[in-house]
Amino acid sequence: MATVVIYVPSSPHTHLKLTSVRTLPHSLTPGYCDWICCCSNIEYMIIKLDHKNRKARLSLRGSELLEVLREAEETNPKEVRSLWRPEYGEYMVEGTPGQPYGSLVQHFNIVEHNMSFRRSEVQSLLQPDEVVLSLTSFPRLGCDDFTYPPAQPDPVSGCSRSLFFPDAAITQGHPRFKTLTQNIRERRGENVAISVPIYMDLKTPRPFVEDLSQYGDDGSSAAAAKEDHVYMDAMGFGMGCSCLQMTFQACNISEARVLYDHLTPLCPVMLALTAATPVYRGYLTDVDCRWDVISASVDCRTREERGLEPLRNDRFVIPKSRYDSVDCYLSECGARYNDIPLVYNKNIQQKLLDSKVDEYLAQHISHLFIRDSISLFSERIHQDDAREMDHFENIQSTNWQTMRFKLPSVNSNIGWRVEFRPCEVQLTDFENAAFGVFIVLLTRALLTFKLNMLIPISKVDENMKNCQKRNAVLDQKLWFRRDIFSRECDKGDDASQMTVGEIINGKGEEFVGLIPLVRQYLGALDLDADTACTIGQYLNFISARAAGTAMTTATWMRNFIMSHPEYKQDSVVTDGIAYDLIIAASEITQGKQECKELLGGTPKTKTSEDIPKAMKKIIQMTCLAPRNAE
Ligand code: GLU
Ligand code: MG
Repeated sequence: MATVVIYVPSSPHTHLKLTSVRTLPHSLTPGYCDWICCCSNIEYMIIKLDHKNRKARLSLRGSELLEVLREAEETNPKEVRSLWRPEYGEYMVEGTPGQPYGSLVQHFNIVEHNMSFRRSEVQSLLQPDEVVLSLTSFPRLGCDDFTYPPAQPDPVSGCSRSLFFPDAAITQGHPRFKTLTQNIRERRGENVAISVPIYMDLKTPRPFVEDLSQYGDDGSSAAAAKEDHVYMDAMGFGMGCSCLQMTFQACNISEARVLYDHLTPLCPVMLALTAATPVYRGYLTDVDCRWDVISASVDCRTREERGLEPLRNDRFVIPKSRYDSVDCYLSECGARYNDIPLVYNKNIQQKLLDSKVDEYLAQHISHLFIRDSISLFSERIHQDDAREMDHFENIQSTNWQTMRFKLPSVNSNIGWRVEFRPCEVQLTDFENAAFGVFIVLLTRALLTFKLNMLIPISKVDENMKNCQKRNAVLDQKLWFRRDIFSRECDKGDDASQMTVGEIINGKGEEFVGLIPLVRQYLGALDLDADTACTIGQYLNFISARAAGTAMTTATWMRNFIMSHPEYKQDSVVTDGIAYDLIIAASEITQGKQECKELLGGTPKTKTSEDIPKAMKKIIQMTCLAPRNAE
């Protein structure tokens, strides 16, 4: 039977029983996680290269490739080394490790190997003129003839009604993505509107105003477009971007809250450090990151909810899109720093409080429930909420915040987890592994030293704006807590402004720096030589990125484009420039071309397929089987 996907417009949601939330275990196998289990999730793009005409296009083969990629999982789910899932673009696939990385320090040494394995799995299925890249955004996304096979947008009856983004570029193999696209637009009452400031180069027209009638605009896009900005009008411009996400297993709900809260202020720092998106729709822009673009690309708020018209039909004025930064901390300590007014669904909050869910979690969940469901399977409407969590997961999975607080599932031993979601994906497995391992190590340092990263949530929001600006890693100062050793949670606002370099590497007597802290933490461990070598290279690289001795991917791309002979100082990234950029990116990814300016040297880690056999024995003797951290 075909699955029908329906949209529930402005459903009040108060009918949803949240008994499943109430009955969740608050602690699972305490003490299990001496080390944290984690899972890294990477989204890839498939690119087809036309060498004769020097043109790179997105290859619309994701659904077809997934069928083959998923065979191993279907035949042998327990032993499989990678899991593959669809993503928004028909040119995308998403890969996670088959099992979460284990809980020993030696497991840090297998992260990069698993990433390379995943990449090679995809590459082995490609044609000679195709490459798989972990590229945050395709520079000519939405430009004329950017897909293979060619596809035309349909501004009159397409799912997104876009002037630029064809429905064929949205994943075809699963109904979720097209439905989300259509429902977001319908709920909003108009096309999404994304405006990114153009990079004003010497010969960029001033003012920069595009003639959108050439794309078939009926006037509505021209009205939505802003002067001196690149205009985009479809969910695909945002959700068609790729990222690197990590999920951490926590021992229990308290540890999950601590991780969620204390990692929240790190989100803008890591976004600046992983910046990889300077080009949109073929134009060089003044931002380096994807975050605000995705945020606008799924902004389903009505005019009333955006505060543009008085509330008549809707329930709330909602300050942010459903893809945005965290709005409230979850721990008692963190709650003192919740200084922005929170919109939440009072009925749901009351129901949760009546069911003995504590006030902070009740507030968080009732805040998630200010959003409507934007895609729902018709056969999943009627459920026993004590046994199934689909209604909750439906809302949870379409609240795309910088952090996600993941609840245990009913009838499964999966525990409390948090997901770290801001990072842009990097070209090489080395870089992605470095960022992944660094964040995990930071969580360990955080818990071991009982660090305090909390700053007012309004300052995290301010950082989210500034960290996306061009060259933010070197040019911006971000709020960060100075006295991170203070365990008292009512010590007030200790935030001061620092560069990303100072936050990561330290600032004299004033601030210790996150890398020195991680090194201190590692110093107390008994590391084998290979793992120590690998981690050492990751930390050196991150330190160099923060200090500016290694460039961000965004800066490397900018430099590449601006020094390209075809570039006319007019902000336009032509097909020829994009082709050369993709070729260079692909050679760096495959290690065929050195790129010291990006990697801070020529790293060669000791990453390996598995941990030493002797260690495995120890785990079998002392640990429970790792739980799925996905
Ligand atoms: N691709 C989205 C991003 O770049 C994330 C989608 C997801 O949550 O999987 O943030
Ligand atoms: Mg994804």
